[in-house]
Amino acid sequence: MFQGMSAAHVSSYYSHTSNDETRYPQLEERLAADVCIVGGGFSGVATALSLAERGFSVVLLEAHRIGWGASGRNGGQMIAGISGEHCVERQLGEDGRRLLKDIRYLGHEIIETRIAKHAIACDLKYGWAEVAARPRHMAGLCSYIEERIKAGDGDHLEIVEASGIEAVVGSRAYHGAMIDRKSGHLHPLNLCLGEARAAAVQGVKIFERSPVVSFGGGVRPFAETAKGRVEAASIVLAGYADPALQRGALSGLVFPTGSYIVATEPLPERVAREIIPQDLAIADSNVVLDYFRLSADRRLLFGGRANYSNRDPRDIRATLKPRMVEVFPQLRDVALDFAWGGKIDIVLSRAPAIGRLEPNVYYMQGYSGHGVNTTHIAGEVVADAISGTMERLDTFERIRQIRLPVGQFLGSQLLALGMLYYRLRDIL
Ligand SMILES: Cc1cc2nc3c(=O)[nH]c(=O)nc-3n(C[C@H](O)[C@H](O)[C@H](O)COP(=O)(O)OP(=O)(O)OC[C@H]3O[C@@H](n4cnc5c(N)ncnc54)[C@H](O)[C@@H]3O)c2cc1C
Repeated sequence: MFQGMSAAHVSSYYSHTSNDETRYPQLEERLAADVCIVGGGFSGVATALSLAERGFSVVLLEAHRIGWGASGRNGGQMIAGISGEHCVERQLGEDGRRLLKDIRYLGHEIIETRIAKHAIACDLKYGWAEVAARPRHMAGLCSYIEERIKAGDGDHLEIVEASGIEAVVGSRAYHGAMIDRKSGHLHPLNLCLGEARAAAVQGVKIFERSPVVSFGGGVRPFAETAKGRVEAASIVLAGYADPALQRGALSGLVFPTGSYIVATEPLPERVAREIIPQDLAIADSNVVLDYFRLSADRRLLFGGRANYSNRDPRDIRATLKPRMVEVFPQLRDVALDFAWGGKIDIVLSRAPAIGRLEPNVYYMQGYSGHGVNTTHIAGEVVADAISGTMERLDTFERIRQIRLPVGQFLGSQLLALGMLYYRLRDIL
């Protein structure tokens, strides 16, 4: 994946509507900083900005371009909470529940504040719905809302019964929904590029086309590229998909799994209003789920997993269109202008892995497809820790992760098999 550096974003709806052409130089020198961050997706950029705002000197090294990975390719759904909440509650009990309540909308708040403060144009809209793919899934949605209301944190949540579903989605595929009015959707690449711009203004030294080939902690932490080296008091690893960065507690932890999106041609206003009347971001309740929303120029962005071989499909359009038409038969004759994919960083516990390899080497990964807000939470947790406030990092470090000591390739194949099992269970 990281052989060769790409100076361009993958071709997608997002790259074609990107509003920032800034290019950052390649690292060709030796530098010293308080913190060196490896990876220029949301995780790395959000951490860099947070640290720069606190007065740290920061160098950020990105292998390709800012936003080149999942952060510039995802569904753009800004969803509350984190993946694997059940695991956190089960393992940490009351401490876990407290953590979850504390961070549930932290990512949203950081994103909203940055969009306003740095005038980042990224099409933020509010409203997100989980739609029940099976009638039995409604019980889970209802009890989730009950728990949240009991905890005093559910005023903005609504249940929509099957009889009212056409107010949420113009499809016969669903049996009800839960709406979260504080979640929403946005153009992720423009958000990532905008945050990087803000970080650079705050003094972060950003380098692109600068893959880190080795790093170390100890008394003289460093990160090295082919042409340069950064020495820093702390190193932050925020580039999960590169095997070169997976060692120690990180080996056998994250298994990159493909997810794919198609974008239709712009839809007539009447059709757009018919399929998603309230302009919500929508995800279904299956484990192997479909997710979709309208873009600012009224395209349907429809995403999901395309196969279970863990190989990229030869033709993403041909693979995803039948799924899209199953949900929205009215779009049978609509053209698909863009199709692309990326890797989701799945961990078996589903709960994000945020912690330290050594006292001064931090890592953040394993958002399991729930990263738009969680990356921003992770950035804050790690920036807090580097500034001396360890509480939330300590709690994350107590989550026991499951490791498969079989290498990333075999692990990803096993995960694909597991996904197939869940897909069959979803269907049956
Ligand atoms: C198709 C798809 C749809 C998704 N949809 C959603 C969604 O709707 N909502 C949601 O919340 N989440 C979604 N996700 C998940 C979300 O996008 C990710 O969890 C999140 O973007 C991860 O951000 P990151 O910064 O950790 O990783 P990335 O964005 O992948 O960034 C990591 C960066 O590190 C760089 N890097 C790697 N190795 C090195 C190295 N050795 N040296 C220097 N740089 C390096 C890479 O080039 C990359 O740019 C989706 C993911 C995919 C793939």
